[in-house]
Amino acid sequence: MSRPISATVSVAAMRHNLARVRALAPGARVWAVVKANAYGHGLEAALEGFREADGLALVEFDKARALREAGWQRPILMLEGAFDEADVAQAARDRLSLVVHEPRQVDWVEAARPAEPIDLHLKFNSGMNRLGFDEAGLRQAHARLSGLPGAGAIALVTHFANSDLPGGANAAIASFERATAGLAGERSLANSAAVIAVQPAHRDWVRPGIMLYGASPFADRSAADCGLKPAMKLVSRLISVRTLAAGESVGYGSTFTADRPMRVGVVACGYADGYPRHAPTGTPIAVAGRRTRTLGRVSMDMLVADLGPVPQARAGAEVELWGGGVVDIDEVAASAGTIGYELMCALAPRVTLRVDRAEP
Ligand SMILES: *Cc1c(COP(=O)(O)O)cnc(C)c1O
Repeated sequence: MSRPISATVSVAAMRHNLARVRALAPGARVWAVVKANAYGHGLEAALEGFREADGLALVEFDKARALREAGWQRPILMLEGAFDEADVAQAARDRLSLVVHEPRQVDWVEAARPAEPIDLHLKFNSGMNRLGFDEAGLRQAHARLSGLPGAGAIALVTHFANSDLPGGANAAIASFERATAGLAGERSLANSAAVIAVQPAHRDWVRPGIMLYGASPFADRSAADCGLKPAMKLVSRLISVRTLAAGESVGYGSTFTADRPMRVGVVACGYADGYPRHAPTGTPIAVAGRRTRTLGRVSMDMLVADLGPVPQARAGAEVELWGGGVVDIDEVAASAGTIGYELMCALAPRVTLRVDRAEP
């Protein structure tokens, strides 16, 4: 028998979350962001869940090829653009749109002389200071690209550093406006947080990622509160149950010690499955549908749950790590000092990924 841990991805939840994007940004077209293996959910599920999206956006050129081979016909946007000149040739062959954030990416388009013009998304640095041109650089790149036969439509894009904070995108929007004033082309600014909370950023195309997977882009607002449904359910089972006597500890480093007799369950899930090792004692977990907490350190293949609230639980009982309706991935992330994004993306290859195609 295989280990009992598995992740189930709900196509219906992904569709629901995409519909939520449409309702929030009715005037915009939607790039569904599927980088990092669709935030750990798998491209197979993403192709079904986001069939109604206007385009897919990612950063991996091999995966863009896989999307074309799987039959995706609509636009594909490469969010970091080309990494070398050969990527420009692939973009022409596979009809990929490219972000352009560096002068050398303009050089590659010029040198590659693609047979088919490539749609380009010129990136403005609105304060993240990671990728993108300043205003002068943007206008220069725009002028150069406008004269190239290999360049198709030129769009203007930016990515927010602080759209999850109230008013956090205002300065970035203003600087984007100044930098792009008078330039023709479609605009794309909004990530998930801006889709939900920054209406003036919606424009021609929005670029939601995390919300499509049913987690929250905000530290202080739950996914359910944003009208989202979790797309990934991570479950496993108890593989052993024991009673700790008062004074006995559990796990590496003996970081948790019982102060009275306690029943505890050993769960077949550890950091080698993608569960965060930094999740401390008290991280929420559900056993047989009842909410309880983890105890002691997470190890490679196992962690331990307090069975106080579920005295009837035996070895074999089902355990929800997140996404099953009792434990929110964002709660586990917050307890471990990280964000839902990281937990989804870190789901390990050894965890069986199932696609649930049931209608809601
Ligand atoms: C990842 C990414 C997004 C999606 O961000 P979320 O916070 O997951 O919605 C949007 N735009 C760019 C450029 C990205 O890299």
